[in-house]
Amino acid sequence: MSVEDLENFNLNAKRKELINRYAPKLGFDQDAIDVFFDIISTIDTILEKKDIRTKAREWDHIGVKVEDGKVILPKDFEEIVYEIIRDNQLYSFFLPEDLGGMGFGNLFQGPISEVIATYDISLQIMIMISLSVIEALVQYYKPNFEPILQEFAEGKRLGYVAFSEPGAGSNLEAVKSTSELVGDEYVLNGTKVWISNGGYANTGLFLAQNIVNGKREGTNVFLVTDLDGITPLRVEEKSGLHVSPTAQLLFENVTVPKENVIAEVGDGYRKVLERLMGMRVGVSFQGIAAAKRLFVQALDYAKTREQFKRPIIQFPVIEKKLTEMMRTIPRMEEYGYRAGYTLDRYNKGWVPVDVGAGGKEGPEKQAASMVPGAVRGGLAHHFVSSSKIYTSEVVNQMAYDATQIFGGNGFVAEYEVNKVMRDVRVLAIYEGTSEIHNQILHKTEKAVEMIPNFERLYQTFDGSTVYERILFERFPGLDKII
Ligand SMILES: Cc1cc2nc3c(=O)[nH]c(=O)nc-3n(C[C@H](O)[C@H](O)[C@H](O)COP(=O)(O)OP(=O)(O)OC[C@H]3O[C@@H](n4cnc5c(N)ncnc54)[C@H](O)[C@@H]3O)c2cc1C
Repeated sequence: MSVEDLENFNLNAKRKELINRYAPKLGFDQDAIDVFFDIISTIDTILEKKDIRTKAREWDHIGVKVEDGKVILPKDFEEIVYEIIRDNQLYSFFLPEDLGGMGFGNLFQGPISEVIATYDISLQIMIMISLSVIEALVQYYKPNFEPILQEFAEGKRLGYVAFSEPGAGSNLEAVKSTSELVGDEYVLNGTKVWISNGGYANTGLFLAQNIVNGKREGTNVFLVTDLDGITPLRVEEKSGLHVSPTAQLLFENVTVPKENVIAEVGDGYRKVLERLMGMRVGVSFQGIAAAKRLFVQALDYAKTREQFKRPIIQFPVIEKKLTEMMRTIPRMEEYGYRAGYTLDRYNKGWVPVDVGAGGKEGPEKQAASMVPGAVRGGLAHHFVSSSKIYTSEVVNQMAYDATQIFGGNGFVAEYEVNKVMRDVRVLAIYEGTSEIHNQILHKTEKAVEMIPNFERLYQTFDGSTVYERILFERFPGLDKII
């Protein structure tokens, strides 16, 4: 690979190719695809014009605080959040068509997340977590959710997901929060930790034990539509994502109508987790965004920084790092788009991979009817977990290489590469740690085996990259599965 190849690498080429590959298979026509590309370009233009990348470095220093029970964000951060969601009615595209939306799902959510995250991952979190709440309301739709969905579409609502607790992170079924039916309302109590957008956003999902006559009878997930009874106790001081509030929240006798139960009483956790995987796709695209930023910055720096009377890019060991990044980025995108696409298929009730050549009709329809529901669910999990573990692990290795190329400057806050390095560390931790996704992949292996003509993505790539070799060293056997 020459320096010219590195310079000519088109960071956005794959987006077009993959959207055109997958969107028609989900039933989107050219008009819908054009709308999607318009949204991407509008958001990109707004963020570029407002110089959000420079502002993001300022926000990184300012951070977030809690004052008098209120989460305080930098003013211009708030302004840009509302500009994106209100002026562009961003969430409206994700409503189903019969509610006036365009039925966009995770295939489109991913690259929109990516564009925002190339400016700032904290900004992407603040804007895009709402889509998890919207996804839950759409997937487990009830008529009383409609006004809330409309308010999301109008930009009057921002979302959060309050699942984790001090003693329940990977094992969420162990939450201690409680929910008890009193008359026509549920009363919610508990302490939640690490809640992104917590205490600031006004519309959330809350996970709790279902208490009946003093006994636990499964778990419930609720839609909570205002902040009454919810106190942000503090926001965490983190090594990255400084302007994304990660809050500890106290829920004290919060009441919600019994219609606000999502999915089924007593089976909330399983039901919601079965479909609420969009955030994992979003995290994959945070990784893709970060990888692109790391590559661009490291390439620029390597071309301009001179040591021993020549640009450091001329040292083969430096060029090799950049080449490996360039080879890996399109692979990350292959995983990310495949995850978004298969999850959307699953949520539409279709078998989540192409079987045979038939599209929605023909052989595929026949095959779909032969694939049991549990296998379909397994497949959706398999693709989402492949994407999450691959993208989040490799981007962390890339961050290591990119900061290395910057030498001492990689370790100082002045350079964006340093911020990206700190921001991406958590990608392998939240939305299920890599260890948990590795487990899911092994558990769902059987589902994949049942699909004829199933192609493992990794085996379609030309050779392995250094980042993949590190990943497979860490998680032995994964190369045979993803
Ligand atoms: C910045 C940030 C934002 C977050 N946002 C949210 C949010 O909006 N909403 C929300 O509900 N939560 C949120 N979280 C919580 C996040 O999802 C959890 O931190 C994550 O699920 C891991 O849980 P834990 O931290 O308790 O780790 P633990 O579960 O205690 O895990 C510790 C270690 O043990 C490993 N481990 C655990 N179980 C197993 C196992 N069975 N096999 C092998 N290894 C295992 C883990 O992989 C990890 O390496 C956020 C966290 C952070 C840091």
